[in-house]
Amino acid sequence: MKKPFVTKAQIEEIVKKYPTPFHIYDEKGIIENAKAVYDAFSWNKGFREYFAVKANPNPVLLDILRSVGCGFDCSSMTELMLSSAVGASGEEIMFSSNDTPAEEFVYADKINAIINLDDFTHIEFLEKTIGKIPETISCRYNPGGVFQMSNGIMDNPGDAKYGMTKDQLIEGFKILKEKGAKRFGIHAFLASNTVTNEYYPQLAGQLFELAVELKEKTGAHITFINLSGGVGIPYKPDQKGNDIAEIGKGVHEQYDKILVPAGMDDVAIYTEMGRFMMAPYGALVTKAIHEKHIYKEYIGVDACAVNLMRPAMYGAYHHITVLGKENAPLDHVYDVTGSLCENNDKFAIERSLPEIEKGDYLFIHDTGAHGYSMGYNYNGKLKSAELLLKQDGSVELIRRAETPKDYFATLDCLSVSAKLNKIIDEEK
Ligand SMILES: *Cc1c(COP(=O)(O)O)cnc(C)c1O
Repeated sequence: MKKPFVTKAQIEEIVKKYPTPFHIYDEKGIIENAKAVYDAFSWNKGFREYFAVKANPNPVLLDILRSVGCGFDCSSMTELMLSSAVGASGEEIMFSSNDTPAEEFVYADKINAIINLDDFTHIEFLEKTIGKIPETISCRYNPGGVFQMSNGIMDNPGDAKYGMTKDQLIEGFKILKEKGAKRFGIHAFLASNTVTNEYYPQLAGQLFELAVELKEKTGAHITFINLSGGVGIPYKPDQKGNDIAEIGKGVHEQYDKILVPAGMDDVAIYTEMGRFMMAPYGALVTKAIHEKHIYKEYIGVDACAVNLMRPAMYGAYHHITVLGKENAPLDHVYDVTGSLCENNDKFAIERSLPEIEKGDYLFIHDTGAHGYSMGYNYNGKLKSAELLLKQDGSVELIRRAETPKDYFATLDCLSVSAKLNKIIDEEK
C-alpha cells in the first residue's frame, strides 16, 4: 500500500493559497533518504552522491540535497548554471553529458566541474575547445551486449548511444595520461529504474574489474568509480523497494573482493542517482473537474501530461490515491485524463479506484523525479507550481506556476507581442 505524505485536510488548506495542479515535495522524506544513502556508503572514504539535476532541477531541492553532502550531476548548460548558483563548484559537480556542445565544455571547465567524457573523439574535441586536458578526468564505459542479472535481461547497452568501448577506454586513458591527466574516473549507466538490490553490486563488479585492467594496461591512477543512476523505486504498490543499505553492502563486498587485492583501496565510489533520491518524495496534486460516461468511464482532472509526462511517454504507472478516500473500496474503474488533444494524455487507464466525485483531490504518487522537469508546453498548456512541505509542516512556494506571459515571452521579437500583452492585461 502506498501512503500519501499529505492528508486531505492539509491539501484543503494549501489550495486556499496555491490552486491545483501542483507538485509538492516532502522535505523530511528527501533528507531521511539522502542520509540513508550516505550511511549505506559510509564504508567508502570518498563517497559522494551527485544528484542527477535533470530529475528535478529546483534550486531549493538542490540546496536541501547539498546540505546532506550531495554534489550535482549535470548534462547541460542550464543544469551547470543552476548547480553553480546554489554554490556548488569544482569536484562537487560532475558533468556527464553526451553529444556535448563546445560552450558547455567551456563553462564546465570554467567552474572546474569534473568532466566525464562520453566518447573517444571528445578527448580531442575537449582539448581543442578548452585548450588543455584537465588533471581530473572521467570516461564513460559501454560494454555493449545486454546487461543481465539473475532475474533476466535488464537493459540493452549495445543499443545505447552512450559511452566508449573497452578498447577505446584503454587507448583513451593512455592518450589522456600523455596529455597531462593525473586522476581518472570511470562511469557507466547500464540499466534504468532497477528494482533489485543486485544492480549496483553487479555493475560495481564489472567496473572494478575494468578499473584493475585499465590500471594494469595504462598505468592510470583511478581515483573514482561512478556507478551513475538507475536505482529504481517501486512505482506499483505490490513492488518491493530497494534496500539502499543492502546495496551499499553489496558494493562493499565487490570492492573488498576486486579492488583491495589489486592495491586500489583508495578509490572513491560516486553515484548519480536521480529517481531514487527524489521520486517518492514528490506528488502531483490535481482536482477532478469532470466525469464522462461513454464507452468507458472517465475522470477529467485539472493536470495533464504537460505536468507529468511519464504515463503518456512510456505508459509508466503512477499510483493514485484519492485524498480522503484512502480506505474506500476500489469499486470503480476509470481512465483518469488530462485535457490535451492527445488520447495518450491519461494518468491512469482502467484503474480500479474509489468512486470519484468532482472536487476530489487526486494524489499522483512518485513525481519527485522526471516529473515536473520532463514537462513541456504542448497545446499551450502551462506548467504548474512546485511547493515544498517543510519539516515543520509549513508549505513554501518554490516555483510559481507559469502564466500566459511566460508562454508568450519568446515572441518578444514580434510586433504581435504588444497585442498579446494587452490581451493578458485585459484578462487579469
Ligand atoms: C538520467 C541520468 C542519471 C539519473 O538516472 P536515474 O534513473 O534518475 O537515477 C544519472 N546519470 C546520468 C548520466 C543520467 O543521464
